[in-house]
Amino acid sequence: MSTTPQQSLYAAREPIFPKRVKGYYRTLKWWVMAVTLGIYYLTPWIRWDRGPNLPDQAVLIDLAHRRFYFFWIEIWSHEFYFVAGLLIMAGLGLFLFTSALGRVWCGYTCPQTVWTDLFILVERWIEGDRNARVRLWKSKWDMRKWRLRIIKWVVWFMIAVATGGAWVFYFADAPSLAVALVTFEAPSIAWATIGVLAATTMIFGGFMREQVCNYMCPWPRIQATMMDPETLTVAYRDWRGEPRGKKRDANAGDCIDCMACVNVCPAGIDIRDGQQMECITCALCIDACDDIMAKIGKPRGLIDYLALSDQEAESKGKPAKKVWQHMLRLRTVIYTALWALIGIGLVFALFIRSDIEMTVSPVRNPTFVTLSDGTIRNIYDMRLLNKNGEDRTFHLSLVSDEILRIELEGTAERTIIVPANETLLQRVYVSARPSDPAATVDRTDLRLWVEDMTSGERAYKDTIFNGRAAQ
Ligand code: SF4
Ligand code: SF4
Repeated sequence: MSTTPQQSLYAAREPIFPKRVKGYYRTLKWWVMAVTLGIYYLTPWIRWDRGPNLPDQAVLIDLAHRRFYFFWIEIWSHEFYFVAGLLIMAGLGLFLFTSALGRVWCGYTCPQTVWTDLFILVERWIEGDRNARVRLWKSKWDMRKWRLRIIKWVVWFMIAVATGGAWVFYFADAPSLAVALVTFEAPSIAWATIGVLAATTMIFGGFMREQVCNYMCPWPRIQATMMDPETLTVAYRDWRGEPRGKKRDANAGDCIDCMACVNVCPAGIDIRDGQQMECITCALCIDACDDIMAKIGKPRGLIDYLALSDQEAESKGKPAKKVWQHMLRLRTVIYTALWALIGIGLVFALFIRSDIEMTVSPVRNPTFVTLSDGTIRNIYDMRLLNKNGEDRTFHLSLVSDEILRIELEGTAERTIIVPANETLLQRVYVSARPSDPAATVDRTDLRLWVEDMTSGERAYKDTIFNGRAAQ
């Protein structure tokens, strides 16, 4: 009986030990990391005075009251179109940057990249640079290896907990929640959220790293549709670098095959093999190669930001296009125009929105009621939303071409007090005497007005009054 050897369908991950690199793009990435992490960790602690009865946290997602506070802007749940608009702008921004600069989002600002970079930085501080980490990885589990690994995991864990902890501060008053966490009086949902986010940060940033980009994130597969031959991306000038080799002779290209570009790559790839899905366009290989070029006295840019059209032109001895020519294209202009259009629309909507929200719903079961003296009465449910931090008194009035009377349920007055940041439901009666035209015809248009008795701010809603003919 013959047996066929079984081939495993599973390929174990090859560990990657990115080497430390210095240069323009590395410095830029440090700055981006500092700014993005700074914004993330510190934003919940910024205070913003909105007056009494309102939270003084600049950025707050108030789930209990279904509101989002962003500095001076307050968005209520029924104004979700603002959030939808911002999400569309974020999507268009991603399309714009990808069509101009490839996966620049992935390489510089994606949280997965930023936290992985931070975790690698910690790893380097504790275990040493690439060669030391390779040696440690290959060595047996002795006391030194355990000690270094445990220190690294503890620091990673602290970063992961701080990351999860910062997230929950966006959903509650940060100082109060911090005290509640320290005294173990925080709600269980806060602990659960911190736990889940700490675990995912540690696993994704510490252990999975580039595998999240390669196997979990759909963007590397989608990005190709956003890019074209004019998109600037990280590429190797093979017409200049080849034939590569350590041996220097008259035919040798500029690449000395030192592997510096490969050793610094967080994706573990060789950019000299051409564009690859795994490349996040972090440009660290550019820094590494520029450093080598400086050492061997060759011009920088063997690896560089290049468009496909530049590669074709340069390999034929023609000059590459200018950077602005790659940026300013029909596609990028359209994305920018759409992005700006939505942004202007949102800002406009923000400034024209009223502080009073009002809805009027006619009660149509029955359409109208006939009182004992023959008066025809229509009933309406009016909802008034007071977006201010103080109670407001509104006066209600009615405008119509016909004679109609208005009354409020439960009060002889025509004024309504709506508490601060509350919605109030008020039943409203509109009636016509038996002899009035509105009582006899099918329908009469009317407009209900409310006016803030202090500020004079007004709002209205149109509705109809049904007479006897509507039966
Ligand atoms: S090939 Fe270069 S740009 Fe691409 S991920 Fe590696 S180091 Fe970054
Ligand atoms: S760093 Fe530059 S010279 Fe060294 S292998 Fe990479 S491309 Fe060649």
